[in-house]
Amino acid sequence: MKLSMEEIVNYCKQYGFIFQSSEIYGGLSNTWDYGPLGKELKENIRQAWWNKFIRENPYNYGLDSAILMNPEVWVASGHVTNFADPLIDCKKCKMRHRADKLIEEFTNGQETADGWSNEKIEEYIKVQGIKCPNCNSQDFTPIRKFNLLFETHQGVTEEAKSKVYLRGETAQGIFMNFLNVQRTMRAKVPFGIGQTGKSFRNEITPGNFIFRTREFEQMELEFFCKPSTDLEWFGYWKSFCMNFLKDLGLKKDNLRFRDHKKEELSFYSKATSDIEYLYPMGWGELWGIADRTDYDLSVHENHSKHELKYLDPETNEKYIPYVIEPSVGLDRLFLALLCDALEKDLINDEERLVLKLKPALAPYKVVVLPLMKKYHSEKALEIYAMLSKYFPCSYDDAGSIGKRYRRSDAIGTPFAITIDDNTLKENVVTLRDRDTMQQITIPVNEINDYVKDNIIL
Ligand code: ATP
Repeated sequence: MKLSMEEIVNYCKQYGFIFQSSEIYGGLSNTWDYGPLGKELKENIRQAWWNKFIRENPYNYGLDSAILMNPEVWVASGHVTNFADPLIDCKKCKMRHRADKLIEEFTNGQETADGWSNEKIEEYIKVQGIKCPNCNSQDFTPIRKFNLLFETHQGVTEEAKSKVYLRGETAQGIFMNFLNVQRTMRAKVPFGIGQTGKSFRNEITPGNFIFRTREFEQMELEFFCKPSTDLEWFGYWKSFCMNFLKDLGLKKDNLRFRDHKKEELSFYSKATSDIEYLYPMGWGELWGIADRTDYDLSVHENHSKHELKYLDPETNEKYIPYVIEPSVGLDRLFLALLCDALEKDLINDEERLVLKLKPALAPYKVVVLPLMKKYHSEKALEIYAMLSKYFPCSYDDAGSIGKRYRRSDAIGTPFAITIDDNTLKENVVTLRDRDTMQQITIPVNEINDYVKDNIIL
């Protein structure tokens, strides 16, 4: 049985995955804190991406660039003038909307207004009779463009000269380091640079829990290739990303590609495709994959007056590489994985809440359970100390063994180890599998290898 968004939000709070930020002061709208289990899950997702896209990938290198950059970066990239969403207000109830999202919702995703002019969006809303989702009125203000970059000031004075931006995407830090990485790593095109980290956007309509927030994390790869090979690499990264999501355990029926139509494409993009996930509120963008041509490096070369060309050592050709950008939101992937894995099973007429995450992603790999606190906790703590050197484990001695199993199932712990009299006598434990609920007996000195073998992605 699948859960609603409200149930997911309550679950996250109840089990220590995600809390409302600054709750005792009434919170700050749409900001969230990751709790102990959320932090573990988020880092496991990040690690899975890093392993697949950087460590195991012969083409790619990692980076961790600064959030604050010279503001000229954002002038050259076009963000200062163009990184804006179409804002529209309902004159009656004063509710604020993103005009393109009104159209998307009205047409159930059949029509997206990406790349449309303000006039075209206004006309469409009028002709189709789209109403304010809040009060059903059809009386909207004209569209205004609302810039999404967060501004702040660096240093002691708050004058225009000290203005800096919180980065709106991690990608620009990669373009800034294109030649640093290429030279120091002696990288030959094609090669990629990837990084993960916080981005900030002053979204008009944040919401749907962690789907759209103003502070979020991205995992981005910029893949530099020879101009004539870009469409081939675009296809390669599309399937690579989709396969990665399936390997993480997302069900294939909940995933689809949405190729952007020609008129939706940014003027510099040759092809763009989103991987969408079927969230409880409907299909939503999870991963954007774009052929950005040589746009980014060219604008930075022009604006900075620093040459950003690559010299092909074999042909002696000098050129600006084309870029394929697969960019995924870490928080959106977190939400997709939770929605996909959290299930209510019926076992002998009793409801069991179970988070069926792949063991590699589970916050804890093992829970150590002394059958009776009085007799078995000393040995159990010893085993806990031994295992927790290798992977995140939890220890639980409170309540009946059935209740403790249910709690560890609910937070997705794949293996539960029970310490009882047999452990004291024969040095063996009972190991229970979360999904099958089968129990096996194994020697204490084999637990480590058993778990290690079963948590590889
Ligand atoms: P949307 O159309 O949903 O606003 P976008 O097309 O602006 O997204 P990109 O600029 O392509 O998004 O960013 C790449 C990825 O970063 C998105 O696919 C998404 O997973 C994530 N992302 C973007 N904006 C947000 C946000 N406000 N909150 C959480 N994740 C986000």
